[in-house]
Amino acid sequence: MTIYHKFPKVNAGKCIGCGACVSVCPQNVFEMKDAKSKVVKPENCVECNACVENCPSSAIKLVK
Ligand code: SF4
Ligand code: SF4
Repeated sequence: MTIYHKFPKVNAGKCIGCGACVSVCPQNVFEMKDAKSKVVKPENCVECNACVENCPSSAIKLVK
């Protein structure tokens, strides 16, 4: 079993509230809250990088 160490962080100042990260994340790590993306289940992240690649404003980074 792979053990994952990273999880996403959203830069709220950059987030434009498009919802792309919510749509592409296979693990339901994000939810929209007050028109911003919020990381609600960081422990679910499998480091697939889809959120990072699909965020139009480069607001997401995977961090340890
Ligand atoms: S890296 Fe993948 S699993 Fe982790 S939050 Fe982003 S889209 Fe979801
Ligand atoms: S994809 Fe980026 S800009 Fe869109 S809601 Fe997620 S963090 Fe915000």
